[in-house]
Amino acid sequence: MNAINPATGERVETYEIETADDVDNALKAANEAYEEWRIRPLRERERLLTEVAEELRENDRTYAEQITREMGKPISGALAEIEKCAWVCEHYAEHASAYLTPEGHPSPPGVDARTVYEPFGPLLAVMPWNYPFWQVFRFAVPALTAGNVVLLKHASSVPGCAMAIEDAFRQAGLPEGTFRTLLIDADLVDGILGDDRVRGVTLTGSGPAGRAVAATAGEQLKPSVLELGGSDPFVVLEDADVEAAAEVGTQARMQNAGQSCIAAKRFVVHTDVHDEFVNRFVAEVESLTVGDPMDAETDVGPLASEAFLTELHEQVERSLEAGAHAVTGGEPLDREGAYYPPTILTDVPEGCPVDAEETFGPVAAVYEVADEYEAIEKANDTRFGLGASIWTADRKRGRRLAHDLEAGCVSVNQLVKSDPRVPFGGIKESGYGRELAADGITEFVNRKTVWVE
Ligand code: NDP
Repeated sequence: MNAINPATGERVETYEIETADDVDNALKAANEAYEEWRIRPLRERERLLTEVAEELRENDRTYAEQITREMGKPISGALAEIEKCAWVCEHYAEHASAYLTPEGHPSPPGVDARTVYEPFGPLLAVMPWNYPFWQVFRFAVPALTAGNVVLLKHASSVPGCAMAIEDAFRQAGLPEGTFRTLLIDADLVDGILGDDRVRGVTLTGSGPAGRAVAATAGEQLKPSVLELGGSDPFVVLEDADVEAAAEVGTQARMQNAGQSCIAAKRFVVHTDVHDEFVNRFVAEVESLTVGDPMDAETDVGPLASEAFLTELHEQVERSLEAGAHAVTGGEPLDREGAYYPPTILTDVPEGCPVDAEETFGPVAAVYEVADEYEAIEKANDTRFGLGASIWTADRKRGRRLAHDLEAGCVSVNQLVKSDPRVPFGGIKESGYGRELAADGITEFVNRKTVWVE
């Protein structure tokens, strides 16, 4: 398994792929670890999580550089990602006891009926490369806190990150086997899910991968959570603060070189403020620094691979042929590495690739709409339903329109972001289930009803 630096095309390191026998041993170890981990007092599991947060903060530069080398995220973003992982550890260390407090129910006199929360066992996490630490932590931390153990099948482009995450849990003092990275090809996932020792699966990634894993989980009658792609709308109404919308919209689309499921991808703008928004948006986007991701001043690094660059540019070219207009960007940069310039397309025709497909790179599609009804119609005109952002000076109007948006998360006057304190997840082809907050910790637990006479 080769890790390639997308900024240079050079090989970072080669890792040996694990075999089915290695996986069997890992499952055995995970199962043994689970028997010990599940009976540890919750307070003790919470305490170990604070140690994980400390380990991450003490070595943030080392972990962040691993991210940057393997998938090209600018170092400032990689450091922020490590800090967010430390935060989610602290969040569950502080709140898990409340989230998992047994819930009493109305019952006849003399009866005590309540729901208690118990872990499932070893869980499989299939994870992507775009936030190679955060995507793993936001699932693993609540799952571990609840008493489950985790097996990670990470994207094959970030094996160093996968190993570093396992190491972080080990350094913090979690018992051997509670968090184990499997350096395997995706075709071993089916067999792992079919193993009786594995009790559930979560996947973050593309639709095809999600469908494949969900189909196997269904066959095996095992619970699954899917966090798939998105084509989030960013709606700017006529009464919006256009300056703030353009500034935040730039961040919402261009951070992580646009490789985020919850990036704003389709900008739906009221005709009264359309031209002003586009002018400000172009100015913001053109002020971004594209360059070496190890440089602290860089805003936009390379895409995670040459293959992603080719795919993205084809989507742009086909959209231009269909009638879209590039107001900035639109051609790969003439330099070494998988660099694509921040790009804005206007006059985007319905059904062209940037309209109908997910664009996983720094490309924004802008639409002009006549009123709020048309805005909501355009915003919902997608097979995805992850996040949506809506901009209006009238908070009541924003709250009302949030109900009309088909999405798992709606932000009014803010970009969509995951936050340990609130649930996160999608509808439609963006997946199902929720991560983070209380929902995240109760996805993979047995909500057991106990009735005592
Ligand atoms: P994939 O969905 O292919 O990869 C995500 C994870 O799933 C990886 O660990 C991958 O392993 C694994 N995987 C892939 N196919 C299967 C399968 N059939 N069974 C089990 N596991 C599987 O994403 P890509 O990296 O190829 O990215 C392609 C597109 O996916 C992006 O352009 C974007 O649209 C979307 N995506 C969405 C993300 C999100 O955050 N929602 C994150 C990343 C991608 P391996 O790497 O070994 O193939």
